[in-house]
This record gives sequence, structure tokens and C-alpha cells, in this order.
Amino acid sequence: MSRSESQTGPWDVVIIGGGPAGASAATVLARHGRRVLVLEKEKFPRYHVGESLLPFTFYPLERLGLIPRLRASAFVKKYSVQFVSPSGRASQPFYFFTRYDRETVAQTWQVWRADFDQMLLDNAREAGAEVIEGAEVRELIQEDGRIAGVRGVGPDGRSGEWRAAMTLDCSGKGAFAATRLGWRLRDPQLNKVAVWTYYRGALRDEGIDAGATTVAMIPHKGWFWYIPLQDDLVSVGVVADGRYLTRDGLRDPKAIFEREIPMNPWVAEHLAPGRQEGPHYLTSEYSFHSRHCAREGLLLAGDAFSFLDPVFSSGLMLALKSGVMAGDAIHEAMAGGDLRPERFTDYARTIREGLENMRKLVHAFYHENFSFREVIRKHPDLAGDITDCLSGDVNKDFSRLWAAIREFAPVPDELPVGLPESADATVSP
Ligand SMILES: Cc1cc2nc3c(=O)[nH]c(=O)nc-3n(C[C@H](O)[C@H](O)[C@H](O)COP(=O)(O)OP(=O)(O)OC[C@H]3O[C@@H](n4cnc5c(N)ncnc54)[C@H](O)[C@@H]3O)c2cc1C
Repeated sequence: MSRSESQTGPWDVVIIGGGPAGASAATVLARHGRRVLVLEKEKFPRYHVGESLLPFTFYPLERLGLIPRLRASAFVKKYSVQFVSPSGRASQPFYFFTRYDRETVAQTWQVWRADFDQMLLDNAREAGAEVIEGAEVRELIQEDGRIAGVRGVGPDGRSGEWRAAMTLDCSGKGAFAATRLGWRLRDPQLNKVAVWTYYRGALRDEGIDAGATTVAMIPHKGWFWYIPLQDDLVSVGVVADGRYLTRDGLRDPKAIFEREIPMNPWVAEHLAPGRQEGPHYLTSEYSFHSRHCAREGLLLAGDAFSFLDPVFSSGLMLALKSGVMAGDAIHEAMAGGDLRPERFTDYARTIREGLENMRKLVHAFYHENFSFREVIRKHPDLAGDITDCLSGDVNKDFSRLWAAIREFAPVPDELPVGLPESADATVSP
């Protein structure tokens, strides 16, 4: 039996899932000298949706040491974002360098996730983490109310048990631990459906605009994403209320997608010269939150902690940031010889604060009376706050912005969720 399949396991930390959250936590922990094992059910490189990075993803990527590799990669450079009205009129692109440092934050990337996630996982291996691909976690080992590791099936099909002082759940929006512990809560108003696919040879702008993300609106506050990728590929998806997308009983993802294309002339025109490739994917598993981030021996990071509607592309930023923070927090807890769940309160507050700020903007975005243009027209001094939040600089006081947005649309209260299980206060300070 190999070391990784040992029944007791020499591990400090076992991580469920080798996506961006798991790989970044593993890198940080291994660099701190912790013995870390990543169990990933797929064989990489594997397909994953979610290609557009936010400017403030720069900092966790810098911490992971990946900026030089990204700069040398084939990933498309992203300098801006633009919105297109349902009539097909495009706004002036917003260039990140009008507010942020050109050499760092102001340029980010559109990434083909199979390659990006492979890069992150290789980085974890290089840092000293052990990674087993094709190993599916099936069960949390629960002993006297604490989590003592996981059981699952290894790549050879044999059952295994991997014990560790800490288990970090980075299983993505399947939310392995939150589902099994009954912690998974839906976000009541964000019941959207997404259908997406890829086009080769579709229109893209020239020069600095070639890598812009476009958000193109359709009726009923639905929207298309249009994300130019390498190899002349474009990722295109439509998100809207399920009732709208499936109206008249339509269920087939391809038929749903194609019916929406003419709803925005900009999208129709841009896709016209392209050739659709591969399947049409559909998900209705939308925005959810975990009631807690930790139990004794267990911590959650990335989508496994919370998944937010992707309209502002916040997922990878939050996954990488929470992965790095979780790695540091676990290391510090171990160094202090105290693994009580309360140790992770600051971690929870920081991640939830950022997520709640994004969530407020997402809720406003879907309200019929809301538009960024109108808010900025009335409150020009708040344009910078909107830009910061949309760029992923989410841990700051946006109370003036929420007061202004309330003039147009309701702003949801923060959900009292996310703290470690035994700390019974809410996350709000
Ligand atoms: C339609 C859509 C569009 C999106 N667009 C964007 C975007 O443009 N920009 C953006 O930033 N984000 C976007 N996202 C969100 C983004 O994809 C996620 O936030 C991101 O992938 C989260 O990273 P993660 O590491 O938490 O989870 P994942 O990337 O999902 O990784 C989890 C890993 O865990 C593994 N795993 C799961 N269960 C087990 C198990 N039981 N045992 C072992 N391994 C397991 C999986 O195989 C997977 O590799 C989008 C999401 C959706 C649904």
C-alpha cells in the first residue's frame, strides 16, 4: 500500500478537491512546511466553466507565485469590461487602468480552465503537496463530533481512508461537507439558470479590446456573457430566470440557447461568423451559502463555502483568495496548537464580508429599476466604489454606495451565516 493510501495517513491536512481553492490552499500549506494531501476525483486537465478573472485576482495569484507563468501563457489578456443594452448598443468599455496600476491589477486574463487549473495544481505539487487524481471522497470521518479525515475510493478503485488533523473542503459548488452536514442554504432570490457553449471564429474586437468581457442584456434582466479565449474560441452563456428560459415548455439546452441569441442584436451579430463547438451545458444549481465555515477538524473554502451568481465573475477571485487565507489560517492554528473552530472566525468574516458586498451588487443588478449608469449619474462620487467592488476589491466599507443604490432597488440584508459552528454570533461585526 502506498503512502497516500495508508489507513492512518501522515497528513496534517487533507483537501477535498484540486480546483483553484484546493490547489491554492495546498500550495500555501506546503510552503509553510505542512504535510498536505489533495484528493481530486477527476484526472487533470479537466473541463470547467468560469473563465474570466477579476483584476483583484492579482494578489492571490502573486502570493502563489504564478504571475510570471500567467504572463508567459497563451491566455487572452483582459483590460476591460463592457455592457450591451437589449437593443444591442454597447457601452464605452471600462478600462481597469483608468483606476488601477497598469503593471499589476489593471490587466488580468481570460483563462481556459483546463490549463489554468492544471497550472495551479502543478504549482501545489511543486510546493510539496501530494496530489492524487482520480480519488473520489465519499464520506467524512466523524468521531465524537469532530472530523478526522475522509473515506473514499482511490484511482485503483480500492477504498481508502485518509486521516488528518484538518480536512479542508474545496469540492466546488457540489459542496461536499455542507451538503452532508445539512449546512447548505439557497439564496432565495437568485434562482437562475445558465446555458452555455463555445464558438470558434466568432467576432472579437481588435487590440486592447480583443479580450474584453461583454455582458449583453436580454429582456427580463437576463444576460449573455461573451468571453474571448485563446485559439479563436469564445465562451458564450445566457443566464436568466428558469421560468423565462424554459417558457413554452422548452427544455433542451441547445434550443434554449439558440432561442435567446436574437434577443440581443450584438450577440447575434458577433456569433454569426462563428461555428458552435461541443455541447450546450446547463446548470440550475445556483447561489447558495453554507450555514457554517468550520467544525472541529473541518474548514470550507471556495465554492464549497458559498457560490454566488457569476454575473460579475467573482468566483475565481473568491476561490483563490479563500484558498490562500484558509491555508494560512490552518497553518497558524496548527502552529498555535489550537484547532478549535473559533480559530477560523476572522477567516469567515473576511470571506463573508467580500461575498456579501458582491451579493448586494448582484441583487441590485437583477432589479428592474437598477442600472449602473443611473446610479453614477445621480452619485458621480460613487463611481469609484462601484468599480472597486466590480473589480474584486471587496473588503471595504461600501455603506455610502448601498445607501445610494437603495434609491433605485432594494439591497438585501447580510445573511447571518458562515461563522464556525460553535461561534453563535452572526458574521456582521
Ligand atoms: C455558469 C458559470 C459561469 C461562471 N463564470 C465565472 C467567471 O467568468 N469567472 C469566475 O471567476 N468564476 C466563474 N464561475 C465560478 C467559478 O467557476 C468557480 O467559482 C470556481 O471554479 C470555484 O473554484 P473551486 O476550487 O471552489 O471549485 P471547483 O473549481 O469546482 O473545483 C472543485 C474540484 O473538486 C473536485 N471534487 C468535487 N467533489 C469531489 C469529491 N467528492 N472528491 C474529490 N474531488 C472532488 C472537482 O472535480 C473539482 O476539480 C462560473 C460558474 C458557473 C456555474
